[in-house]
Amino acid sequence: MKKLLMIPGPSPVDRRIQDEMGRETIAFGDAAFVADFKEVLSQLKAFFDCSGEVFVIAGSGTLAMEMAAANVTKAEDNVLIISHGYFGDRFVEIFEHKRRNVDVLRSEWGEIVPLEEIKAALDAKKYAAVVVTHVDTATGVMAPIAEIGKIVKSYEDTMYIVDGVCATAGIEEKVDAMGIDILLTGSQKAFGVAPGLALLWASNAAMERRASLGIIPEYYCDFDKWIPIMHDPSKYFATPPVNMIWALKESLAIIGEETIEGRYARHIKTAKAMQTALETLGFTILANPDYRAYTLSNVIYPEGTDDAQFRKVLAEEGVQVAGGLGPYAGKMFRLGHMGNIDAHDMISVIAAIERTMKRCGMEVTMGAGVAAVQEALF
Ligand SMILES: *Cc1c(COP(=O)(O)O)cnc(C)c1O
Repeated sequence: MKKLLMIPGPSPVDRRIQDEMGRETIAFGDAAFVADFKEVLSQLKAFFDCSGEVFVIAGSGTLAMEMAAANVTKAEDNVLIISHGYFGDRFVEIFEHKRRNVDVLRSEWGEIVPLEEIKAALDAKKYAAVVVTHVDTATGVMAPIAEIGKIVKSYEDTMYIVDGVCATAGIEEKVDAMGIDILLTGSQKAFGVAPGLALLWASNAAMERRASLGIIPEYYCDFDKWIPIMHDPSKYFATPPVNMIWALKESLAIIGEETIEGRYARHIKTAKAMQTALETLGFTILANPDYRAYTLSNVIYPEGTDDAQFRKVLAEEGVQVAGGLGPYAGKMFRLGHMGNIDAHDMISVIAAIERTMKRCGMEVTMGAGVAAVQEALF
């Protein structure tokens, strides 16, 4: 059976993108590659409304998180982290390793930190940066990043960092218009590229902050080292992942064909269809419906379901999903539905879930979930 990769990243990699990774590698100084890299950078700025800088480097999303922390804050700075789950908590560790003074606002899993709480924290203390995860992959909660951006902007000299790893290219993000100073992601989630690239957008204010810090302890992820390359990719600092940048270029071509607005609308429609079908089949979605992500669903089992058995059978039926994290380990599975997937994939996923339920002895009306997806999509 064909296996659909429906974990929260890597998401399925389209054949067109795979082919770019299989091309013969050329010199990074080759004029053809330099032109391709330049085009990637300018498209990234345009799609995400960024008049500042964009960085594309070899690494995963976590490197981009570290890059954000390293370039706009320094030791002893106060940093406010809004955590809606596991990946929000990862920022706490990153900033603490760098000896920043970290305050954390945590929500219950499935809920968000109320905006008034964020405002109250910012009134009480001066922060060098506020950090939020757009979609926390552990909870499937989507933060109201535009609203938080409005609040942060009213405090002078506070940088606004948004982790878009499970959102960027799937859920609307506009760097300038939303008052974001740093937006970051990895290639393997809603861009639908294989793992391997860290992407980061920085506002002009973020670049001014970087300049004010002087020499920083980090080397590979220092903005200052990369700026000359991002302005002129024929220059060398560290070898760019040539084939991965081609893969990203193809993913941007796919986004261009679909239009970025069309892609965002498709993710909303996909999420609603999948979530409705899952609820029809008797599952519960963890996140509060007001803050539910469009890129993945965190799906709580009906009482008495054996998680390990369910996911094993589902894999045999052709769909790979991820397990729950933290307090939801064993009680939930996580289903990615981001990037380059289509109606064929969604219908197959729900059909495979129905077969799995049957095989696991759960109560199921075959076709009920599929009917719900079809109704929601067409
Ligand atoms: C996946 C993910 C990360 C980590 O990215 P890696 O590429 O695994 O390093 C960070 N934040 C969020 C929200 C994620 O979903």
